[in-house]
Amino acid sequence: MKIDLIKFFKSADKVYPFNGEISPDAFDSKNDEFQIIEPIGYSGAIYKVDGSYIINADIQYKYETKCARCFKNTVNEVNTSFSAKLEENHKPTEEEEDDDIIYYEEGILYLDKYILLEVTSSLPMKTLCDENCKGLCDKCGADLNKERCNCEDDYIDPRLEKLKDFFLDE
Ligand SMILES: [Zn+2]
Ligand SMILES: [Zn+2]
Repeated sequence: MKIDLIKFFKSADKVYPFNGEISPDAFDSKNDEFQIIEPIGYSGAIYKVDGSYIINADIQYKYETKCARCFKNTVNEVNTSFSAKLEENHKPTEEEEDDDIIYYEEGILYLDKYILLEVTSSLPMKTLCDENCKGLCDKCGADLNKERCNCEDDYIDPRLEKLKDFFLDE
């Protein structure tokens, strides 16, 4: 979405609301095992506050990836938001880039770019199909959510494990 800020700056309006969607194709995940599914939804507003311009946006998206423990395909939904000050672009260098500032160029705000940046920075580090996912057996690869394998011989009683640590600490 392109927002014509000049029009808004000149108007008597104090608030410029917006909402829209971005096609999942616009998101370059750089990872084959990670996909945004369904359009990325956003809504928010630009506010005139004491001669400055502040933007707020709420973003919702759904992605599919593999569970970090059992590798089952898992869909997760994320709600995130950002708030920033709007400034005229002065061609910032990399070091100058500031998370709290959003730049517009010649009166036009290219909003999608910032929505996609927020999606990237809000991606969870790790996705689980279920918080209690038991994962796969290290030895035989059995899905421990569905079956029990016969690798339990190496099971160490937690009390003995403590004792082992005790001796190692000495
Ligand atoms: Zn899992
Ligand atoms: Zn096993």
